[in-house]
Amino acid sequence: MYPDCVNCDLRFEREQGYFVGAIYLNYAATVIIVIAGYIVLDYFFNLSLAKQLIVWIAFGVCFPLFFLRYARSLWLSIDYIFDPENGPGDRT
Ligand SMILES: [Zn+2]
Repeated sequence: MYPDCVNCDLRFEREQGYFVGAIYLNYAATVIIVIAGYIVLDYFFNLSLAKQLIVWIAFGVCFPLFFLRYARSLWLSIDYIFDPENGPGDRT
């Protein structure tokens, strides 16, 4: 990951631990999808609990790895919405 945006100089990691919020977002997205997916598969396909566990444990391991970069991007966007003064060009 680059330290700054190559287009607008937005600094990505402003301080140590800045992306802890992205981990929360990643976890929340994973849990929401797992719960919703469990309910959908149970309702439409009537899968057994063992099969559901296999599917959703595998998903719960793989999805956060895939989604990490998007969670970071989302976290940066949320931070920028609530604190635009520390956005592009403002280096302190
Ligand atoms: Zn940019």
